[in-house]
Order: sequence, then C-alpha cells, then structure tokens
Amino acid sequence: MKLGTIEGGGTKFVVGVGDENGNIFERESFPTTTPEETMKKTIEFFKDKGVEAIGFGSFGPIDPDKTSPTYGSVTTTPKPGWSNHNVVKDLEEAFPGVPVGFDTDVNSACLGEVEFGAAKGLNSALYLTIGTGVGGGAVVEGNLVHGLLHPEMGHMKLITRPEDTYKGKCPYHGTCFEGLAAGPAIEERWGKSAKELPVDHPAWDLEAYYIAQALCIYILTISPKKIILGGGVMHQKQLFPMIHKYVQEMLNGYVAKEEITTDKIKDYIVYPGLADNAGLCGGLALAKQALKNK
Ligand code: ADP
Ligand code: ZN
Repeated sequence: MKLGTIEGGGTKFVVGVGDENGNIFERESFPTTTPEETMKKTIEFFKDKGVEAIGFGSFGPIDPDKTSPTYGSVTTTPKPGWSNHNVVKDLEEAFPGVPVGFDTDVNSACLGEVEFGAAKGLNSALYLTIGTGVGGGAVVEGNLVHGLLHPEMGHMKLITRPEDTYKGKCPYHGTCFEGLAAGPAIEERWGKSAKELPVDHPAWDLEAYYIAQALCIYILTISPKKIILGGGVMHQKQLFPMIHKYVQEMLNGYVAKEEITTDKIKDYIVYPGLADNAGLCGGLALAKQALKNK
C-alpha cells in the first residue's frame, strides 16, 4: 500500500512516500515559504505517486476539529500568509477521493511512535519534542488527544531553580517550559550554541531538572505508558539518566509503578524509536488512520 506523508514544519517541509509498515521509499524537502508556493510543491511531489491516503503533521496552532468549519487550517501563526490557510482543502482539491489525515506535528510523531516505534503495541504514550520550541502530543486509550484545541504542553509555568536567574524566552510566559528549556533558551542563558556546550556543562543538569519537572506533571495528569523525548536538544543523550533520576526524586515514590521507581525507568522515558524519521512515519500513521476512517 502506498501512503503519502507530510512533515510540515515552520522552517521546512518534508514530503515522502511510504507504506503501512512505516517504510519510507522516497522523500524530498524544501523550505517553508508562502502557503501557495509550499503547497504547490507538495502537490507536485504527490502528483504521479498514486498514494491511497495522505497524512499531514503540521506546525501549529491548527484546527484539528473535524466538525469545525475551519478544520484543516493553520490558525494564528506569525508565519506570513499561513494564518487561516487550509492545507487539507488544498490536498483534497488536488487529489479527490484520497483521504487526508491531519494533526499537529507532535501528535503525528506520537502516533508514529505508537504505530511503528518506541511505543509500538501500547495504547498510551506521550511524545515530546525539545528543539526550537517545546511541544507535546499524546495518545490516551488508543486515541490522539484533542479538545478545545490541542494540547500545548510546552507552555506550562515551571518552578525555576533558586540559582537560575534567567528571565525565560517565551514572549507569552517568560519562564514556561519552552521559555526555560528549548534550544534558544539554552543558548541565550549560556551565551553559546547548545551543540557546543560540553557534555559535562552545568547547562545539562539544569535542563534535565526542568524536563523532569514537566514530565512529572504529564505523568500525574495523563499517566502515559511510555514517554518519548525527541527534538534537537535530546541529541544530548547524557540528559536521559539525569532526567530519570530527577523524575524519581520529584515523584518521591508516589506513583508506585516499577516503570518509575526502579531502573526500568530507562525503558520508560526513552529516545524516539524512529529517531529522526518520527515525523515522516507519523504522517504515514495519520494516512493509515484516515484510510481506516474513510
Ligand atoms: P525544530 O524544533 O526547528 O524542528 P530541532 O528539533 O532540530 O528543530 O531543534 C533545533 C534546536 O535544537 C536548536 O535551537 C538547537 O539549539 C538545538 N539543537 C540541535 N542540535 C542539538 C544538539 N546536538 N545538541 C543540543 N542542542 C541541539
Ligand atoms: Zn510559554
């Protein structure tokens, strides 16, 4: 079965063709410019591919509510031209009869990990990306989580460490999770590119402390069976053992499950099983779901 996948990022679009088992046969990438130009390139890519369904994981915020008149659009982005642009409509008009699955990039990646990756076979998982921003997607009882909008897990206020006087980078909240721990915050706080900070730099202990604080909140609210941490910052693999230790300390035995209280935590909070293919595989999973719901 041939399925189309789109990882629609604010900086670049990655499009690809794959199958229902998460194999990717070909891919192409181009910068995100105007919606007209970017969607034209996307549609050209799929023109002669004969895909049976297309899945689109989008930068946001988006309208994921199928009953809403603006379903399928990017909503209030500062990215010029994209506000209220309906990408699902573009695809449906170009490929009549081909079902289109649409969700946030992080929900898409979460579904990809559940379908093909680190959370395969589970009906509950959380996917978090820590990169230019912080965003999270979740599968709960087998379904991706939506509601009034969709979760915005990167913007909860965190308690700053007493010695951390950094004011935070989020224009809305200052010291929210993204404002304290996304790549640009690390770089502003330490005056150095995150990639260049040595593995034993104090930046990583502080980073792990904030990530752990946020993870405790997700564990206590949605109780995921697996937590997957992706995005550029998580290339710093030394963060994992520090995050494990802080989550155990902060929960203090309250969530009495061996996945958390024992060293099984290293299989509970993990790197993406699909590595940097999480986005494209997520699109395949969305396409598969769209075909099923047709
Ligand atoms: P995006 O979030 O834009 O999709 P990424 O997930 O790659 O892209 O995130 C980019 C951010 O991640 C940059 O701000 C950079 O600070 C940080 N980053 C990228 N690679 C690394 C690395 N190897 N170590 C630490 N931080 C990194
Ligand atoms: Zn914020």
